[in-house]
Amino acid sequence: MGRLARAISSDGNIVMFAADTTDIVAYAASIHGLSRTCTAALGRLLTATSFMGHQLKEENGSVTIRINGSGPAGSLIAVSDSKGNVRGYAVNPSVDLPPNGRGKLDVGGIVGRDGYLCVMKDFGTGDPYTGQVRITSGEIAEDVTAYYAVSEQVPSVCSLGVLVNRDLSVAAAGGFLIQLLPSADEGTISAVENCISDVRPVTAMLCDNLSPSEICGKVLHSFDMQLLSESEISYRCTCTRERVEMALISTGIDELKDMARDPQTRVSCQFCRKEYVFNPDDIRKLISVSSES
Ligand SMILES: [Zn+2]
Repeated sequence: MGRLARAISSDGNIVMFAADTTDIVAYAASIHGLSRTCTAALGRLLTATSFMGHQLKEENGSVTIRINGSGPAGSLIAVSDSKGNVRGYAVNPSVDLPPNGRGKLDVGGIVGRDGYLCVMKDFGTGDPYTGQVRITSGEIAEDVTAYYAVSEQVPSVCSLGVLVNRDLSVAAAGGFLIQLLPSADEGTISAVENCISDVRPVTAMLCDNLSPSEICGKVLHSFDMQLLSESEISYRCTCTRERVEMALISTGIDELKDMARDPQTRVSCQFCRKEYVFNPDDIRKLISVSSES
């Protein structure tokens, strides 16, 4: 179980989100067989998507972030509901790269820098919002910051971290997002800059057992931060057999007829790896449904 906190400065100029996504990222790494660097990359994306999902006001809303920088990992996709529960995958989960010049996991290298970060917000009304920015570094936090600045005109500070042990276990994962509201003046901006100039990595704070709400107070130490909420978040998929059936029907009747000749059709959910098995009778039922419609 992860935790996500939301806080606001008492002067109402700054909102801040902080999350501990250690368990979520560890679960994603185990089901997808993520390499060390892919664990860091997808883990950062899952955390950022959780923040963006939690910002939605619509109960049935969801946010999808896709980043594709033409790197060896291929596209990385994460989806969050409006509570901050997330799921995601990388197209090439097991590829890895040696550490970068600073001895860090080379997230920018594995994501690549030639492409876009795309955001799709579904408000549950059938009229989604989409926005995209060119990838800045592929390190994800900078790219998310650029997205907020360019597409939403919200000045933000985003920090994301995933600490992966040599045995691929996840020591800590999480992040924070600071956003300035339109009321923030120059004094507030420079005070925030002061606070983050000497901030420790978020994984170091998590390893010291700081909770997300404590991280809000620690990072913005010169502000009086008031906790708005702190809730549990988890890795959560929304797939069902009915949705998989709809997806199979959408492949068309010829495709279904081919499947009906196979003794078994196995469909695995990209997000949670759950496998759905269909026998020829199941497929023939789908054929009759699709020929009725
Ligand atoms: Zn699933």
